Amino acid sequence: MQDSAALRSALVHAVAAVIDSHAEELTSLDQAIGDGDHGINMKRGFEAVAADAASLSAKSWPEFLKSVGTTLVMKVGGASGPLYGTLFMALGKELPENPTRADLVKAFRAAIRAVQTRGKAERGHKTMLDVLIPVAEALESGNPDAVEIARTAHDAAEATKPIKAVRGRASFLGDRSIGHMDPGARSSALLIETVGSLLEKA
Ligand code: ADP
Ligand code: MG
Repeated sequence: MQDSAALRSALVHAVAAVIDSHAEELTSLDQAIGDGDHGINMKRGFEAVAADAASLSAKSWPEFLKSVGTTLVMKVGGASGPLYGTLFMALGKELPENPTRADLVKAFRAAIRAVQTRGKAERGHKTMLDVLIPVAEALESGNPDAVEIARTAHDAAEATKPIKAVRGRASFLGDRSIGHMDPGARSSALLIETVGSLLEKA
């Protein structure tokens, strides 16, 4: 992956834009099985990252990702803030300055493990992990293009609908969490689709 401030800046703005344009959808998903703040939480966090885009993008890939993670922890709040923050901070810790595709795949898996440790959740608990883990598997087992990665992520988010939540606020609902897509799974699918398509073009 090229050491490109322009690419980092484009990623920041694209991710903030996709979260902004889906904030209402994320909120309404969270109204069904949570407390209705996931859209506003994510929007606040990624707006803060975008506001700092110039100085963040000037950093190397590892420092950039660590700083994005720190901002997300501070600004997103809720359960998802520390978890997305952990994901980005761990990516920053794992990646070398000039990462190859193989470095990226390895770091993504390690970052997911960090999220699992932090949130004590597994695949099948109806969380963001139900999107992140299948995408990691697809990246590890082949060479999917951006369209295939996006499809994997979106199908995985859809597949959270019939699951009964085991972690997060939705677990308080027990069986009533069944039939609704997990909001964090949806936001993860949006982030993955956006990052995947920009990295493919880079
Ligand atoms: P809160 O639940 O505190 O209101 P958000 O609404 O911003 O926070 O985020 C909810 C999302 O966070 C859930 O949809 C789920 O995907 C994710 N989440 C919650 N708890 C966990 C956990 N322990 N592990 C992984 N993801 C989790
Ligand atoms: Mg919530």
